[in-house]
Amino acid sequence: MKDAMTDGIVSLVGAGPGDPELISVKGLRLIQSADAVVYDRLVDKRLLDHARENVEMFDVGKIPGKRINRQEDINRLLVELGSAGKRVVRLKGGDPFVFGRGGEEAEALANAGLTFEIIPGITSAIAAPAYAGIPITQRRVASSFTVVTGSEDPTKPGTSVDWETLAKSSDTLAVLMGQSNLRIIADVLVDYGRPPDTPVALVQWGTEPYQRTLVGTLANIADEAAAAGIGAPAVTVIGDVVKLRKAIRWFDNRPLFGKRVLITRTRTQSSALSAMLTHRGAIPVELPTIEIQPIKDYAELDDALSSAQRYDWAVFSSANAVDIVFDRLPALGMDARALHGVCIAAIGPATRRRLREWGIVADFMPSSFVADVAVNELGALGVEGKCVLLPQAQIARDTLRVGLAENGADVQSIAVYRTVTPQNTTERLQDILADGIDIATFTSSSTATNLVELMGGNTDALKNATIACIGPITAERAAELGFSIDIVSAEHTIAGLVSAVESHFTEGDKAK
Ligand code: SAH
Repeated sequence: MKDAMTDGIVSLVGAGPGDPELISVKGLRLIQSADAVVYDRLVDKRLLDHARENVEMFDVGKIPGKRINRQEDINRLLVELGSAGKRVVRLKGGDPFVFGRGGEEAEALANAGLTFEIIPGITSAIAAPAYAGIPITQRRVASSFTVVTGSEDPTKPGTSVDWETLAKSSDTLAVLMGQSNLRIIADVLVDYGRPPDTPVALVQWGTEPYQRTLVGTLANIADEAAAAGIGAPAVTVIGDVVKLRKAIRWFDNRPLFGKRVLITRTRTQSSALSAMLTHRGAIPVELPTIEIQPIKDYAELDDALSSAQRYDWAVFSSANAVDIVFDRLPALGMDARALHGVCIAAIGPATRRRLREWGIVADFMPSSFVADVAVNELGALGVEGKCVLLPQAQIARDTLRVGLAENGADVQSIAVYRTVTPQNTTERLQDILADGIDIATFTSSSTATNLVELMGGNTDALKNATIACIGPITAERAAELGFSIDIVSAEHTIAGLVSAVESHFTEGDKAK
């Protein structure tokens, strides 16, 4: 049998420059299977969410009392964890060997005779300029580049960087850790012969939705940076390639770039919307205003499921209802076959998708996802005299039930879950509102109602925000509550909402 102690390996993994999707496939896989993760300050914390639940986490970027861990302590920790036979991921910003002291960590591991591996990462030296629309090389503009540390004062004796040679070459320079010495570095380069009008770009928090880019020249960049308040972490790009930003800028000019978007749906439903916003450069801010809770008594549902064959249709208006019904079946000693022969309707693609996850292909989905349209189209399918099961929220709007009944159906509406306003979120809401929200999204009437309840009945804190609603009924409710509505999605889905918000900002027609 293999000795468990020999299975340990320490992987020095480059986390990439910021955006958590810029890690390598291999790096991500290693995080997912690690026993211990040792990470730095500049690593985007969302990457840590991929680790297993019981993983040991070590934040060596800072420890209480000390500003920064000493490198020897980090080396010792890695050796200790590796010697214990663990699968250790040492997660470092950018590439582990670009000014990350990764080389020293690898030496310590090699000296200790431990198995280790290096997973390179995308360095900020290249990625931050790329996300600012600046190619680090370009034919006829720059045929080489130098990545250089700016952490040493170039005027102090013993500096290890040959600024004179760098000034005389026509390389693109990417200076890392240069924020505090920016003025001296720019002056030294000019003194050694780089023209003062050489273009310079500072890219702070490159690849993140809060990336900031400042363009100037060697002569004025230090003053401009001070005026704009741009500090670390930033890459300073020096050279004619900076001029290409005008034509190639692609990331920080997206319509939703950097906008803080409030998401008010339940925690589990928020992730899809968050992901879509993130991909468009926005900053999703999740504040669930709804919590789904089971109801006390499932007798009515149990009864309906026990004789499900009597229904002609089961109409699901939310993914929650789907989950509860299909979760309930095994408790009754049944499975999806209990609904054999019952036609299934899904009001909306998310509900249809959830049914699919339970192995059910919906027979019908209306062309629009507001209840009135669903009623008309279901009516047209011929529900007269048919028995319809309608599992819903306890305080669901009655439109579906009444509408189907008016079409001659025998509708049994059953409460299967209830929605409540989460407690203890007031403080977090205050923090969110203090940081500012650019866009607030409402994906149902109750998200608006509950948010206003959490805001103590006063919507003033969002009066400068753009208000986006998933459909007319939600918009009507939000307006009643005192919001002035800017966007009503024509397609009542999350994707429809996101694209309505995006085109609102693309067209630049924001009146507020
Ligand atoms: N190994 C890292 C660099 C570590 S040194 C890499 O390959 O990127 C830390 C310096 O990297 C910072 O001072 C800053 O100059 C730069 N840096 C790291 N992440 C950055 C980011 N997202 N945007 C701009 N600069 C960044």
